Amino acid sequence: MTELRSAFEQLAVEGVRSLQPYEPGKPMEELQREYGLTDIIKLASNENPRGPGESALAAAREAAATMHRYPDGNGFRLKHAIATHHGVAPEAITLGNGSNDVLALVAQVFLGPGREAVFSEHAFAVYPIVTLAAGAQARVAPALGPESGMPRGHDLEAMLSLINDDTRVVFVANPNNPTGTWVEREALKTFLQSLPEHVIAVVDEAYCEYAEDTRMPDATQWLSAFPNLVVTRTFSKIHGLSGLRAGYSLCHPAVADLFNRVRQPFNMNSCAQAAAEAALADTDYVRESVTLNNTQREWLRGELDALGLDVLPSAANFLCVRVGDAAAVNEGLLRAGVIVRPVAGYGLPEWIRVTIGLPQENQRFVQALRNILGKD
Ligand SMILES: *Cc1c(COP(=O)(O)O)cnc(C)c1O
Repeated sequence: MTELRSAFEQLAVEGVRSLQPYEPGKPMEELQREYGLTDIIKLASNENPRGPGESALAAAREAAATMHRYPDGNGFRLKHAIATHHGVAPEAITLGNGSNDVLALVAQVFLGPGREAVFSEHAFAVYPIVTLAAGAQARVAPALGPESGMPRGHDLEAMLSLINDDTRVVFVANPNNPTGTWVEREALKTFLQSLPEHVIAVVDEAYCEYAEDTRMPDATQWLSAFPNLVVTRTFSKIHGLSGLRAGYSLCHPAVADLFNRVRQPFNMNSCAQAAAEAALADTDYVRESVTLNNTQREWLRGELDALGLDVLPSAANFLCVRVGDAAAVNEGLLRAGVIVRPVAGYGLPEWIRVTIGLPQENQRFVQALRNILGKD
């Protein structure tokens, strides 16, 4: 096995050899199997804890009745709904099997051997994966220091200083996962203005709906000002559709045309298209989800503060908290039936990321953590 493993590894392209598989949050069924537990809560993958919205679920069910047919490869209805939502032309939209799919399209189109992508330390794990898989070099800018007003956040100036003639893509997650940190309007605008024309700026807004009361921009409003801007959004987080896989990007139609040349012809399935269209229209579900999340996030922050733990600023639906021996704490939480996300792979070995759940889930997490830390 090991011999075959290394033999095949030699056959693989260079970028793939340097990669590790993405480590998702532990599925509940896996914990059930491994630990024999039945009462489990999952706060590991930044999903919407409320379950899907009723109208989205009904739309997916209805679409399932015609699953013997291929989906609409051009996503006509969903693109028009998204276009109206953002006030852009449908030609600006690229649909994806999750926004992850669109991030991979960016790499496929603009990266490759001899090219470079720039992103921050502690940034979303998919950026290095798509960069290296495309055979390009990753340039990682040190994050802001612990003393900064936005500890561990993107240092846009450090990122700018890594840009050279070979750079083709820069990834900005706003807010970022797993830190929860964000960049403010003026800073991001100055950054975009400073970019050379040969660099595509990807602003990943997977969590932007949660960012109330911050000075975080809506980058989709800058699409006409910056033709090299690609903004990605997802239905996986606030819209509660992680399992269906639905995301999209907004960018200049000339760039979208390039994505369209390489994407799989049917890269968003018919249930996902139908549910996403319904979810976009369900503004009550979105508003209630934001209110629940942000109220609970501040409650949880207070509890973690009271335990004397270091918590990063977050404009998203999770908190990143320093627990010391994160592997041991994680193990303790798993034994208590609570799945969170260790983030050692993100260069944060002493931290865990916990998704904001329903009130009773958050209470259970705090109680389990108290027990483990001996703070009862
Ligand atoms: C969850 C997440 C996404 C969305 O992934 P999907 O493929 O749309 O499910 C994108 N970017 C970041 C930073 C995320 O955390």
